[in-house]
Amino acid sequence: MRSHIKIGRIFGVRIGLHYSWFLIALLIVFSLSGEYRLKYPNWSHGLVLALSITTAFLFFLSLLLHELSHSLMAKAHGLSVREITLFALGGVASIEQDATNARSEFMIAVVGPLTSAGIGLTCLAVAHALVGSATLGPLRALLLWLGYINLGLAAFNLIPGYPMDGGRILRAILWWKTGSLDRSTRIAARTGQIVAIVFIALGIVGYFTGGGLGGLWIAFIGWFILQAARESYIEIGLKRSLLGVRVSDVMTRECPTVDSQMSLQTFVEEQLLPTGRRFFIVTEAGRVAGLITPHEVKHVDRALWPVTRLDFAMRPLSKLRAITPNSPLIKALEVMAREELNQLPVIVDGYLEGILSREKIISYLQTRIELQGDDRVLLPAGKH
Ligand SMILES: [Zn+2]
Repeated sequence: MRSHIKIGRIFGVRIGLHYSWFLIALLIVFSLSGEYRLKYPNWSHGLVLALSITTAFLFFLSLLLHELSHSLMAKAHGLSVREITLFALGGVASIEQDATNARSEFMIAVVGPLTSAGIGLTCLAVAHALVGSATLGPLRALLLWLGYINLGLAAFNLIPGYPMDGGRILRAILWWKTGSLDRSTRIAARTGQIVAIVFIALGIVGYFTGGGLGGLWIAFIGWFILQAARESYIEIGLKRSLLGVRVSDVMTRECPTVDSQMSLQTFVEEQLLPTGRRFFIVTEAGRVAGLITPHEVKHVDRALWPVTRLDFAMRPLSKLRAITPNSPLIKALEVMAREELNQLPVIVDGYLEGILSREKIISYLQTRIELQGDDRVLLPAGKH
């Protein structure tokens, strides 16, 4: 999930909002003001609205703290965390690698629900201390709501279906017991699918028996878990089928190169347009200097094309993501997915060995699957 609005950084982790988060913020403010108005009919409209907005904001903070706890624990275990995105159904911390052992996986997963439970209990304790204070009534109402919602959040996330926290905890325990990450992920993902189907069924039954939107919401969460569980299943299949495959097995060796001294005008007229290729390596005395695609060309004013050299317009080597021929293909795929790249130059000591492209990887996989008759490995069509 990509965030659309960047809020800032905390402990080096980018914090962002997905557009769908605004929908949930509105829903919370709306339903809370209804609830407060019903429970406390003598509060003014202004107070109810201000209180609802503050509660929604603090709820957002508690979700953030939950994800932040996962992120900080991941960092403490040597994994890097790219960003935290808050969206309609909660939050996601994008941790870049998988945990290297069951203990780390367990700690990273369990700290989230523990944080939510801690926040919940603290809110309830403070609310309890405020009993009887008439002036602090609104604060008490706010703390009660936050307390229960955070306890609910902790309990809900402990449901043992991967990729929910509970599913990750289950996976960590199975991993520790069996020693096989593959098998534990498969079992945890299966449990996730079962949990998801139960959610969808309960949600639909709830909706038709008068549960209203709450029922649909549960069904929607179920659908979301089902997708995520399915994706992790596919990922395991993909990882297994790519085990032992190196970048050099899949890369294209002939790749179009152009000299850095060539003018942009000549490049467009003699290379870019007639060959129909969109990706060229710029070389200087045989060594890779950078890369040029229509994207870089567009950034230079057309009138300047005849007098602009490629080494001025190109994306220089220092800013290029490159990979070595010996790297595992799965690692290259991770880099390409993370940075949304369609191709990676394969470089050794400054010399170009080949190009790894998305299309080539897909056709390689298809051929392998055809040869093996292995239909267990699904191609994530349209995703890579
Ligand atoms: Zn969590």
